[in-house]
Amino acid sequence: MKLEEIKKLDEKYYMNTFGARTSVAFEYGEGVFLFDLCGKRYMDLLGGIAVNVLGHGHPSLTAAICSQAKKVIHTSSLYYIEPQARLAQLLCDLSCADRVFFANSGAEANEGAIKLARAYWKKKGIPEKYEIITLKDSFHGRTMATLSATGQEKYQKKFHPINKGFKYAQRGDIDSLKDMISEQTCAVMLELIQGESGVYPLERSYLSKVKELCEENKLLLIFDEIQTGIGRTGTMFGYEQYGIEPDIFTLAKALGGGIPIGALLAKGDAAEAFEPGDHGSTFGGNHLATAAALCVLDTIITGDLLKNCRLTGAFALTELASIQKGIKEVRGMGLMIGIEFMDDIAVSVRNKLFEEGFIVGSVGTRIIRILPPLIITREQISGFIASLKKILGDVYGKSSTGS
Ligand SMILES: *Cc1c(COP(=O)(O)O)cnc(C)c1O
Repeated sequence: MKLEEIKKLDEKYYMNTFGARTSVAFEYGEGVFLFDLCGKRYMDLLGGIAVNVLGHGHPSLTAAICSQAKKVIHTSSLYYIEPQARLAQLLCDLSCADRVFFANSGAEANEGAIKLARAYWKKKGIPEKYEIITLKDSFHGRTMATLSATGQEKYQKKFHPINKGFKYAQRGDIDSLKDMISEQTCAVMLELIQGESGVYPLERSYLSKVKELCEENKLLLIFDEIQTGIGRTGTMFGYEQYGIEPDIFTLAKALGGGIPIGALLAKGDAAEAFEPGDHGSTFGGNHLATAAALCVLDTIITGDLLKNCRLTGAFALTELASIQKGIKEVRGMGLMIGIEFMDDIAVSVRNKLFEEGFIVGSVGTRIIRILPPLIITREQISGFIASLKKILGDVYGKSSTGS
């Protein structure tokens, strides 16, 4: 099919929740590259929004998916599932968690986390504890409970009444959080690096104070690691960067390398809070998704991709920070990087990069972000940075972009 024909069908039949999509359809991918219908090559620095950690067409992942699909894709969780059990074990071995539950997306994993936190207090005989404090500018998903948890009115405004039981504290301001704690508070839920709102890492000292407050007030600490988890920051889980363990955390995006899967993980008593009948999922943790996730984790570990993420990410941060003109701030950790410009040029820079064959994301009018596959090389990142420098040079005048 030609792009114009696809566009026509999309415009007539698909609900327009994305606005104007970028005018391209990709046909196949190879490593960090995607190829469009005309065969033009693009370097994918967005990785399907933090999903394609192994890049595209990774031989091990495609082999794992094909071989599992030939055996059995889905049976429902009424029966035991070998790759589900093995993946649960592996995730617990790798993390601070004692138990896992599998969902199909990030929002669903967070729904599970919200339910688990409430179930925990019900089980302890304190049912009046139901309120969850999240942060302003957070993003936790698009379902009713998760958009209610999301501290941004723009996601909520068309869907009122939103769910009760959420309060939004100011990011980085411990007093704002402290003031919201009451007898009803059951948990604090946050992203270690706010991704969707523009890549804002929490400060270490702030997170330690949050942890202290949770301990003092006996609140569950929930990390939404849907974007920061699975190697993105240079450690398998983002919390390792901070040295602070949550009671509950969630994963999705990168976990299946592109096959939809989400996970809810918990330790200690929180891991025991659900009882039979409390939660469930038809697709969650099926053979195909869990076999894919096992392969993703195995490949990250055996391929030393966490190290590559740390080194390549540090290189990218340094190089980006050296471009001075036009850039207000470069933020991030590992291969989760946001570049904030001085002026409202994010969309035009993103579009120019696209013309040059580089895919990045933009947030608002001033921020672009990259979430590339963890297999990306320093040379490939250099190519992107050279192109970005050239574009900024054109915008601001050649002499004024840094070295
Ligand atoms: C993407 C994301 C979600 C939502 O995940 P979906 O799979 O789109 O439902 C939730 N929280 C964070 C931090 C995310 O980045």
